[in-house]
Amino acid sequence: QQSNENYDFSFKILLIGDSGVGKSSLLISFISAYSAHSAPTIGVDFKIHLLTVGGKRLKLTIWDTAGQERFRTLTSSYYRGAHGIILVYDVTQRETFTNLSDVWAKEVELYSTNQDCVKILVGNKVDLESKRAVSKEEGIELAKELGCMFIECSAKTRQNVQQCFEDLALKIMEVP
Ligand code: GDP
Repeated sequence: QQSNENYDFSFKILLIGDSGVGKSSLLISFISAYSAHSAPTIGVDFKIHLLTVGGKRLKLTIWDTAGQERFRTLTSSYYRGAHGIILVYDVTQRETFTNLSDVWAKEVELYSTNQDCVKILVGNKVDLESKRAVSKEEGIELAKELGCMFIECSAKTRQNVQQCFEDLALKIMEVP
């Protein structure tokens, strides 16, 4: 979507995945500094972030489920018009990984109306290496199956967090 305002493109980005995988933390980590928080707010929330990638000024509107996913009530309106989807799992919780293919990818298929929507699979919490329950190779494999890009990161240390959003934005810009 092209605009006349002080940015070149405006993209809607969604964060999805099980509760507790670190979606809100990734968003906070990307936009400001990581801060541990425990009490999730209920309801869909979004943040707007301006950044320059590949010489283009982008306005990213990033939607976070903010706990709503626990009630399985994300609806088509959440997905409507999304340019990019960040599918997050926790590398220390195997179930959050299997749920991506069993639950979330199916929901994306059902509700995401944009055929050109770009997806990135994100294994979060890699700072907890000793508790790892999903290997990087498995992540790469699932990403292939789902037709996603792939990255491992840590919202806590901010490792690869910027990279994740920039990779996604760059790919979205490649969409004709
Ligand atoms: P959400 O429910 O998916 O939004 O997950 P939250 O962002 O609320 O994170 C759930 C919990 O995991 C919180 O206690 C966070 O502090 C913690 N957390 C999130 N990301 C990381 C990470 O990269 N590393 C570690 N060690 N903990 C994290």
